[in-house]
Amino acid sequence: MSATAISKLSELEKKDERRYIENTCPMTGEVIGRIPICTEEEVDQAVSNARLAQKAWGALSVAERVRYVLRVRDLFVERREHILDTIRQDTGKTRADALLADVFTVIDGTTYFCKQAQKMLSPHKNPLHLFKNKKSTIMYEPLGVVGVITPWNFPTAFLSDVVLALLAGNSVLLKPSEVTPLIGEMTAKIFADSGLPQNVFQVLQGDGSTGAALVRSDVDKIVFTGSVRTGRAIYKELAQKERFTPVALELGGKDPFVILEDADLERAADATVWGGLVNSGQMCASVERVYVIESIAEEFTNMVVERVKKLRQGPQDGPDVDIGAIIFPRQMDVIDDHVKDAIDKGAKLLAGGGRNQELAPGYYYKPTVLSNVNHSMKVMTEETFGPIIPIMVVKNEEEAIKLANDSIYGLTAGVWSQNPERAERVAKRIEAGTVAINDCGANAFGFCEAPWFGVKESGFGAVHSKEGVRNFSKVKHIVKDRGWMRKELHWFPNNAKNYNMLSRLVDILFSKGEKRLKALFGGE
Ligand code: NAD
Repeated sequence: MSATAISKLSELEKKDERRYIENTCPMTGEVIGRIPICTEEEVDQAVSNARLAQKAWGALSVAERVRYVLRVRDLFVERREHILDTIRQDTGKTRADALLADVFTVIDGTTYFCKQAQKMLSPHKNPLHLFKNKKSTIMYEPLGVVGVITPWNFPTAFLSDVVLALLAGNSVLLKPSEVTPLIGEMTAKIFADSGLPQNVFQVLQGDGSTGAALVRSDVDKIVFTGSVRTGRAIYKELAQKERFTPVALELGGKDPFVILEDADLERAADATVWGGLVNSGQMCASVERVYVIESIAEEFTNMVVERVKKLRQGPQDGPDVDIGAIIFPRQMDVIDDHVKDAIDKGAKLLAGGGRNQELAPGYYYKPTVLSNVNHSMKVMTEETFGPIIPIMVVKNEEEAIKLANDSIYGLTAGVWSQNPERAERVAKRIEAGTVAINDCGANAFGFCEAPWFGVKESGFGAVHSKEGVRNFSKVKHIVKDRGWMRKELHWFPNNAKNYNMLSRLVDILFSKGEKRLKALFGGE
């Protein structure tokens, strides 16, 4: 946006007292946009419009909805270079990061769920174990209006929630992050250009106040992805509402990697570096802490450091850059605070550390490796959300598991061992929504079949997968009597005959040994 346009907007702002989001490009530190913030009244109006639009949308067949949603997918494919440019402007990501996480994921996820939606949302038989005289069917109906509130770190990836909600017959209100408003504008345009019926999908630009207004509004579900702090505020707000509103909370992480002595160290080192530093470490499922058994610690740490030192960082466009920018100065401060706190408490800096001054005024933090860390340090206990790999040496598997679980978070984790039984045994004991064996938990990209969710403070409520699609539906159970009996045995009036029959049934079905035989065949 030009300087003249921005000053014109400032004049408008003075007149109508509307608040605006002003966003900067992390690659340059320059102001690049000014977007009006939706007020509470506008949010409520949008929800009413969405409710009206949902009636016709929800009445369409799944196949008809799929046809509309596929047009959105097609526009993502056609416009992907423009989308990547916009993502880079708003977030300072490398082109490769944006292509993988924000564009490929949306295109792939939309295609997958469009193919599967019919099967996932069709009514299905539900054979009953006891009442063979009844026919039971499970059906999925739209919830109504769904509010989706998203963070800045993968500003289009969470459109997968929008897609699932739409396919399930809901209208959707998206509240994108105030940090990435240009992407919010772009998303609104793509959906509008796709020919989706009016008000079936709307974007509500704004900050926390707009998100809070959406939570307070007459929506039928909130899907929130963001910090624990905001997730908690939303949960409290929803509890005050007159009407129960379901919610899914996809929150932060402090994901551990456990490197056992029989790991393939080359692969583990590659995964640690990628998993810890992709998207500049600004990923909920980043490898935020590494526990390595002491006998291989030195060799593994050297491999990580060697790889990190070769990474290329900067704003240059094109495929050959590894590490992009940090979203805003406040995040740079958090990262720097964690690194300094660790060093003050005895950590050793093996690579990076500090702002990349050569790339200032852009917000670039050098990819960093720390050793000699422990759980008294913020870098091992609080979400850092930056390009930092802290490596802690542990004596054995038991200590690694104990430390991996010593966290308020439980999003993803990684276990490294070439012994499949051992790796599985350790994976089962780690408290996380997803545990990857010899792989990176960040495998959220492209894993449409598996539910995505956290445990502990990382949240609850699955998205992705069949379960995720159905979470955007009201589940209805229809049970139909087949007409074999004039009256059910347990209906009034109660009498001794019916009572004894039910009691005998308990013996037949659930008693062990002699008692059961007696009930079946009689006799003393
Ligand atoms: P954030 O909580 O600051 O903001 C997220 C969204 O919530 C934004 O759109 C914001 O405007 C809105 N918001 C703020 N206050 C609100 C309120 N009171 N009511 C309703 N909405 C409100 O998070 P962020 O800084 O944008 O994102 C980073 C966080 O997101 C990290 O903690 C990261 O781990 C987490 N995250 C989690 C996942 C996951 O799948 N579990 C994925 C990506 C990011």
